[in-house]
Amino acid sequence: MRKQGMLADIFIASSNAITLDGKLVNIDGIGNRVAAMIFGPDKVILLVGMNKVVKTVDEAVARIKNHVAPRNSVRVNISTPCAKRGFCQDPHCVPPHRICSQLVILESSMLPGRIKLFLVGEELGY
Ligand code: SF4
Repeated sequence: MRKQGMLADIFIASSNAITLDGKLVNIDGIGNRVAAMIFGPDKVILLVGMNKVVKTVDEAVARIKNHVAPRNSVRVNISTPCAKRGFCQDPHCVPPHRICSQLVILESSMLPGRIKLFLVGEELGY
């Protein structure tokens, strides 16, 4: 399924955070989501709640590691250090009990119209 996502005509996902100047900041464990955002599907649709808007890339990473990752760890039932403590324990966090493997920042796309982001005026996900 993860490989098939790379060949999809339309890929629907979210971003972990968006900065005020429009950078999309994402951290993946396996990388299939960020890979498909970057290349593969003809169209990428991103649905992003206002709760994911942050000022800077540093703030985005802090949000992902101290807010998103602990909750995602619980959701997918991986006993990461942050799932136990509620905030990031890097550098004392190693695979297989680590869901932060790729830090990807999308600044732009050379293919006009390929990525469409819908900023939804409510809290969506975490
Ligand atoms: S690096 Fe490890 S402890 Fe930190 S947020 Fe990611 S999974 Fe959690």
